[in-house]
Amino acid sequence: MLYGALEAGGTKMVCAIGDENGKILEQKSIPTATPDETMPLIIEYFKDKDIKAIGVACFGPIDLDRDSDTYGFITSTPKTAWKNYNIVGRIKEDLGIPVGFDTDVNGSLLGEVTYGCAKGLSDVIYLTIGTGIGGGVMTNGKLLHGMLHPELGHIHIGKRNYDKGESVCPYHDDCFEGLASGPSIEKRWGEKAIKLAGKEEVWKLEADYIGTALVNFCMTLSPKKIILGGGVMHQLQLFPLIRKAFEEKNGGYINTALTHDLDNYIVPASLNDDQGIMGAIKLAIDATEC
Ligand code: ADP
Ligand code: ZN
Repeated sequence: MLYGALEAGGTKMVCAIGDENGKILEQKSIPTATPDETMPLIIEYFKDKDIKAIGVACFGPIDLDRDSDTYGFITSTPKTAWKNYNIVGRIKEDLGIPVGFDTDVNGSLLGEVTYGCAKGLSDVIYLTIGTGIGGGVMTNGKLLHGMLHPELGHIHIGKRNYDKGESVCPYHDDCFEGLASGPSIEKRWGEKAIKLAGKEEVWKLEADYIGTALVNFCMTLSPKKIILGGGVMHQLQLFPLIRKAFEEKNGGYINTALTHDLDNYIVPASLNDDQGIMGAIKLAIDATEC
């Protein structure tokens, strides 16, 4: 059985065909321009591929409420060409197959829970720290949507008084994304994050912010594992620093077997940056079952 998978991102659309085991059989990347330019290329890729369903893991914000008139729409995105765009409707209309739909980060989380390092766990958080910061949440075995969907990148974490940088979030002056995303690192230190690999103070401050956010997520959502992906997390020296910051900010309060073993509690993504597209395959598989 073949399934289609679309990882819809602000800069590129990754299209893939996968099988029921999450194996990617072929894949193609299409630059994200306007819907008028990009959607026909996506439809062209998937048509005549004999896929049973398609899963879409999409940048947001998106409407996931099945009772809403705008279910399946990309809603108030700053990418204006995609604002209020009915991406699910367009795919359904043109391909005539079931469409699974969720956030890009819930897609990555689903990939890790189904095929990766969180296999079998029912309560997991996946965070991406890249151009933006976003997080997917699974609780009691279900992807969390709620009113909209969690926006873990926009919690207020408080700017450190020794931080000379400024938030890059247009909405908040001290949110996680504003202070710890790739662009915020670049703005604060005047160089791309990848070029700052050897600068200790960069990663100490970064880990302080990430550790603070993770303790807040731990207290509110009680995950059994926290997975960190995205471009910035390729700086693997961050992991021990984040675990140390987590320990300090937790202050021994959450005191479980899992928090005693932080090397296995706060972990890197495990699927070679394929977690999103593999999660989209699983969204497609699940879409055939509803
Ligand atoms: P996106 O979030 O756009 O999907 P990425 O997850 O690759 O893409 O994130 C891009 C951001 O991550 C940029 O700000 C970039 O500077 C930063 N980044 C990418 N690779 C690295 C790296 N190896 N080390 C540190 N930062 C990186
Ligand atoms: Zn913000």
